[in-house]
Amino acid sequence: MGKPHVVVLGSNFAGLGAAQKIREFAKDTVDITVIDRKPYLLFVPNIPYEVFENRNPMLSLHMPVVDALHEDNIRFIQGEVKALDPDAQIVEYVPTERVGAAVEKIHYDYVVVAIGARLAYDKIEGFAEYGHTVSDTFYGEKLRLFLQNEYKGGPVAVGSARFHQGTMTKDLVPTAEAACEGPPVEVMLSFGHWLQSRGLGGPEKITVFTPAEIIAEDAGVGIVNALLGIASSMGYHYMNNTKDIKRITKDGIEFENGQSLEAELKIIFPDWQAHDFMRGLPISDDQGFVLTDMTTRNPKYRNVFACGDAAAVTVPKLGILAHMGAETVGKQIAMDMGRMSPEKANVPMHFIVNCIGDMGGNQAFAINSDTWYGGTKSSLKMGHIPFLMKMQYKEMFFRTKGKVPDWGIPAADFLIQKLS
Ligand SMILES: Cc1cc2nc3c(=O)[nH]c(=O)nc-3n(C[C@H](O)[C@H](O)[C@H](O)COP(=O)(O)OP(=O)(O)OC[C@H]3O[C@@H](n4cnc5c(N)ncnc54)[C@H](O)[C@@H]3O)c2cc1C
Repeated sequence: MGKPHVVVLGSNFAGLGAAQKIREFAKDTVDITVIDRKPYLLFVPNIPYEVFENRNPMLSLHMPVVDALHEDNIRFIQGEVKALDPDAQIVEYVPTERVGAAVEKIHYDYVVVAIGARLAYDKIEGFAEYGHTVSDTFYGEKLRLFLQNEYKGGPVAVGSARFHQGTMTKDLVPTAEAACEGPPVEVMLSFGHWLQSRGLGGPEKITVFTPAEIIAEDAGVGIVNALLGIASSMGYHYMNNTKDIKRITKDGIEFENGQSLEAELKIIFPDWQAHDFMRGLPISDDQGFVLTDMTTRNPKYRNVFACGDAAAVTVPKLGILAHMGAETVGKQIAMDMGRMSPEKANVPMHFIVNCIGDMGGNQAFAINSDTWYGGTKSSLKMGHIPFLMKMQYKEMFFRTKGKVPDWGIPAADFLIQKLS
């Protein structure tokens, strides 16, 4: 009999990390296959920085994954996953290198769903014509070109559409009305600097908006109030309780709550939705995100795992939580293979919002808080050190092909706390 076959769906932060951690902890007791539509990792968090520095983000934020996986004897398939049958333990995919490929099937003993979310810009009326964003390198480059060639220095709106979180994990994580609001805060602050550095005005031209009662509520009320106080004293405008984006027009944004906002530039973060093929599966919640406990395992199908944005418990949709999930998946599979003790493997994830956002001028803000999850950690630091850590993290990630040493994030936190 061959070794158990682990199939990992997705190879960005969650998928690449999970595959590497499974190999690290379970050693050669399993065969591992990773499937992704594209053969590189998109380093999402640094897109805004590259755009505002007037660099095409595509040039520096794609990290090849095939050789990284090969080094760990992990097979990579470039294909678009189309279906998952948890009873038959089969994944269907279509190879994506050439157009016209036939549907292929692959059997698994364990599956790790790490395919992130569908960023639903196509559900926002007027986005294609009048909206901008920074969540991938296509949109990042589109915004960069707009800023260089078309932007006339008019008002700017930055904010999120409403996130529709499932209702089946309420006992595990709080409910959020926006999927990920670090990026809007980051874009607001760094764009204010961008305007100033070009003599086009500054923060007074920018309004940040949120569908929720309070922006980035997952960072904790104390931190958000401090951030909002600083932003307001700098001249930024703030609009809350917009409920959702109704439509984007040439002249601005209309909201579900009846308000509207005039803006020449509209930088939008959409609803993070589950992929269509995940909806209605017995492993999914009522929105199509994969149900797991806090050890990343599906309660009914014990050979199904999920981590990163695809998991129902991952709220907000944050890279640090993908990293935590990837490590926990690795431990769980190692435990099943007899390579790790249950005491070590069965430690439930304790989420924390750990986020460093660019502010322009080689400065950044760093949030480290778990109060939203019932903890007591709450730290906000600003300055050059967090910025340095953000840049260093990306360099270290690329240099180690995703295997940032265990001390990487704690060391960055320590330096931020001590030196900022
Ligand atoms: C502008 C911006 C800035 C951010 N900054 C930060 C930050 O500073 N810190 C932080 O912690 N988080 C940040 N985040 C959030 C972070 O980027 C996400 O939480 C993280 O990317 C999630 O990783 P993931 O691997 O779960 O999903 P993704 O990164 O979305 O990766 C999913 C992978 O699955 C693949 N895939 C999808 N569908 C299929 C399919 N059907 N078949 C095959 N492959 C498929 C995709 O190609 C992709 O490689 C930011 C997000 C944005 C938008």
